[in-house]
Amino acid sequence: MSGGDKLDFEIRPNPAPVSAADRAALLANPGFGRVFTDHMVTVRYAEGKGWYDARVEARGPIPMDPASAVLHYAQEIFEGLKAYRTADGGVTMFRPDANAARFVTSAQRMAMPELPPEVFVDSLHKLIEIDQEWIPTGEDGSLYLRPFMFASEVFLGVRPANEYLYMVIASPVGAYFTGGVKPVTVWVSPDYTRAAPGGTGAAKCGGNYATSLAAQAEAIEAGCDQVVFLDAVERRFVDELGGMNVFFVYDDNTIVTPPLTGTILPGITRDAILTLAGAAGHVVEERPVSFADWQADAASGRLREVFACGTAAVITPIGGVRFPDGEFLIGGGEPGRVTMSLREQLVNIQRGKAADEYGWVQRVL
Ligand SMILES: *Cc1c(COP(=O)(O)O)cnc(C)c1O
Repeated sequence: MSGGDKLDFEIRPNPAPVSAADRAALLANPGFGRVFTDHMVTVRYAEGKGWYDARVEARGPIPMDPASAVLHYAQEIFEGLKAYRTADGGVTMFRPDANAARFVTSAQRMAMPELPPEVFVDSLHKLIEIDQEWIPTGEDGSLYLRPFMFASEVFLGVRPANEYLYMVIASPVGAYFTGGVKPVTVWVSPDYTRAAPGGTGAAKCGGNYATSLAAQAEAIEAGCDQVVFLDAVERRFVDELGGMNVFFVYDDNTIVTPPLTGTILPGITRDAILTLAGAAGHVVEERPVSFADWQADAASGRLREVFACGTAAVITPIGGVRFPDGEFLIGGGEPGRVTMSLREQLVNIQRGKAADEYGWVQRVL
């Protein structure tokens, strides 16, 4: 079948899956992104033919011609979301439709074909079903799902490729913070920017990450955990971290995050926090925040808390800020009350421990 919005997945079970004992050992302490399940999804695309050959098959290396377009011109996009084991033994995902929609807008920006959202969500269901034994059962564990798509055409000419491969792999992950939530220190990069107006900042593409790595290395060099990027035009306003959006909590009950003007990745965690904060009675504003104001408001005490957010760590408090000319603390370097409350609310919804008033949780099994 091709071209339509529905595809039948051929299921080819792994003939040599990891044994139950070995799997249990791997799940005891999986870390992040190091342990993988027995299967993967592959779906092919060819211009004129559409999407075809949808499969769930044994996870393994994929043959790649050295002239595959992605290796030269980086036509690649990805997504990241989690499947959770619920208390009653079921399995859920958090807002997979939002990831499917973002995968379409990322594809449009990178001149790639649009994967029908139904196929995206269905591919996740199929992989979760066959690899369900890999979902950690503990309080903090989850199965991280990584859908991605790249230009697979063998061609060195510069134009959008005519052939693509869409895949999904899955990785069991443990608690992001072992031993409690710890605030991070961020580095305000003087040298590097992440995204310019008209660029690819709003697309979830590997290229954005490639360009963030030198800045991240600079952050580590400066003794920080993460880099925070300023806008590329004036180098005045806060955009986001390398892979997380940022929020500011003020003493007048206001919560602020920079607006989505094209240079910031529209995070699904960001969107959920805007909703939850509004419902909790905070005044929620999407407006630019300058680094100068960040510093001044931290000094005056008006700025109480700052946090970063994204699927992997949910909400990470920011306790310190460092830049070439100095450094300052937020909230004495301790996690803030509003930050931790929003974190708990969101985690409880994701794990089925609190009512899902917004229809965010999708049952898989
Ligand atoms: C994925 C990502 C985020 C967070 O998005 P979520 O949907 O909340 O996981 C934030 N910034 C960047 C640059 C990202 O790639």
